[in-house]
Amino acid sequence: MEDFETLLDISTSIHGHICAGQVIGVRMAMLALSLLDIEEPKGRDRKKLYVFVEIDRCATDAIQSVTGCSLGKRSMKFLDHGVMAATFVHLESQKAVRITALEEARETSKKYCTDVDDKYARQLKAYKIMPDNELFKIEWVTTSIPAADMPGRPSRRVQCCDCGDWVQDCRDIEVSGRILCKKCAHGSYYQLERKE
Ligand SMILES: [Zn+2]
Ligand SMILES: [Zn+2]
Repeated sequence: MEDFETLLDISTSIHGHICAGQVIGVRMAMLALSLLDIEEPKGRDRKKLYVFVEIDRCATDAIQSVTGCSLGKRSMKFLDHGVMAATFVHLESQKAVRITALEEARETSKKYCTDVDDKYARQLKAYKIMPDNELFKIEWVTTSIPAADMPGRPSRRVQCCDCGDWVQDCRDIEVSGRILCKKCAHGSYYQLERKE
């Protein structure tokens, strides 16, 4: 695997800017890979890792960039919890580690890089050199990934009885004996204006 600075450069170019979230995300992903003994997440180990991310903010892009796990590959699952944390699962050994970015690190970072006046610039610089235990909480966990959430071909494809949309991966819902998509069963996130 590439070194920290190289990985940070790559994630910064994908994300669009350098920020503390890139530093945190790259370090969190590198830490997880080393704890799980995964050396080449985008090479020979590319089918071994699955990641649950608990927030849709900057660090998530860095985690995707370092691990190669993504929504599109179904190797990354977004849980909308608003917590700067991610759980990394080794699909062969079933070992899983949840890593949370410590809120206290904002405060602790003041010990470092005292030459930098701007708070955000100092945090960004400090997060590069602070030890892992000042940046992260590490928890070994167990979790199970439903078969319908795993990478690979869809196990099921059915058509919604109401709107006609095709629903993959067992996301359909049966209501009074009829197969429906989620929006027809539970209500939609959009209102139809017109059809072309
Ligand atoms: Zn950012
Ligand atoms: Zn429908």
